Amino acid sequence: MFEKILIANRGEIALRIHRACHEMGIKTVAVHSTADADAMHVRLADESICIGPPPSADSYLNMPAIISAAEITGADAIHPGYGFLSENARFADIVTEHKIVFIGPKGDHIRLMGDKIAAKEAVRKLGIPVVPGSEGELKDANHAVRIAKEIGFPVLIKAAAGGGGRGMKVARSEDQVANAFRAARTEAKAAFGDDVVYMEKFLQNPRHIEFQVLADSFGNAVHLGERDCSLQRRHQKVIEEAPSPALNDDQRREMGEICVNAILKLGYLGAGTIEFLYEDGKFYFIEMNTRLQVEHPVTEMITGLDLVRQQIRIAAGEELPFKQQDIRFSGHAIECRINAEDPLTFAPSPGKVTDYHPPGGLDVRVDSALYSGYTVPPNYDSLISKLVVHGNTREGCLMRLRRSLEEYVIGGIKNTIPLHQMLIANPDFINGEYNIHWLENFLENYGE
Ligand code: ADP
Repeated sequence: MFEKILIANRGEIALRIHRACHEMGIKTVAVHSTADADAMHVRLADESICIGPPPSADSYLNMPAIISAAEITGADAIHPGYGFLSENARFADIVTEHKIVFIGPKGDHIRLMGDKIAAKEAVRKLGIPVVPGSEGELKDANHAVRIAKEIGFPVLIKAAAGGGGRGMKVARSEDQVANAFRAARTEAKAAFGDDVVYMEKFLQNPRHIEFQVLADSFGNAVHLGERDCSLQRRHQKVIEEAPSPALNDDQRREMGEICVNAILKLGYLGAGTIEFLYEDGKFYFIEMNTRLQVEHPVTEMITGLDLVRQQIRIAAGEELPFKQQDIRFSGHAIECRINAEDPLTFAPSPGKVTDYHPPGGLDVRVDSALYSGYTVPPNYDSLISKLVVHGNTREGCLMRLRRSLEEYVIGGIKNTIPLHQMLIANPDFINGEYNIHWLENFLENYGE
């Protein structure tokens, strides 16, 4: 097992990884920008190294600085968390070349899944159903119009290098296609430095349902069920839950098996998430994330398994300690992503946290790096806390979530707790009747 792991991340996820390491008796190295010198992940780690100024490009994305930090401190492995360098195949390769273990899949699998066109083609061949669309890149606006007419309107133009919901444009009729094509290309070029786009049928009322998988280097793989992440704003998840209110045990088992077979055939290593849209009883693959997800705690709450611990064990060459039949799903879990944002306008609200009182009690988990007196810097993602609650039933889970949100005090900065309180009181949410467009519609009438 590793003796020391460098955590190439910040905020709640750096803390999350630190906690798993210390429970396994592994020492941790925190890296940080000058804006994060007082951050909780830096305070708790055994060692810390400043890797650059506040902009991510100069610090958390600075590969030479991170590799040097690992070499100076003698770390055996690097955990990238999510975001930043977690899905950068070149980083995974460079880490490996420096005889440091990258805690994640092989560079080639990250590369394959990072190209969404290639990923779709690869998983389709492995028996996973995909969203109908252009099989490959859209060459020009005329090509886009031709494919759109073939698959039928509305259509969605997406960036092959996409992520974070960027570079996506809908066209509802033929006259909108050329503009959508150009806009998606421009946005993709700006966000990812790559203007390759492709087309999919735009599904009108799907849910976003994703399966968590784990594979070791001994040919064992399991799925840990699904997460329903349909509550989204601008293609970004806001609330996630497990299990999905829309699936039954047979569907879960069947889809889980398809996912496990696919990753076994791929020779995939570590944790991964296979994302689908689910409409009228059918699943359509959209992408695979080759890393830990923000919303992984809901899976941990219903399975009792520590996903980061499993990632570390697999990277250290250990065998999965359980088989599919050993995995038990128990009760229901919901996660609220709390952001440092105005709950009405979503304008960022960084600044000093004057009072901090997180909720507690049975089955309540708060993953956050906040503390009283901490200043949320303006340079990074606005996620400041994940409140994750478990209950024996979905109804019980909702009651506990309501109580926990009531208790939660984050003073001094605006945050999205009031939004979550409204969402979980809404009859559609209470009944589990929502899809990926629900929140956008809700927000149009919000605040009136
Ligand atoms: P990203 O990598 O940018 O997150 P995804 O392909 O995972 O992109 O899609 C993000 C979200 O965009 C999905 O969860 C869904 O809400 C929406 N979306 C993606 N593809 C489609 C589609 N074909 N039809 C309708 N909505 C879609």
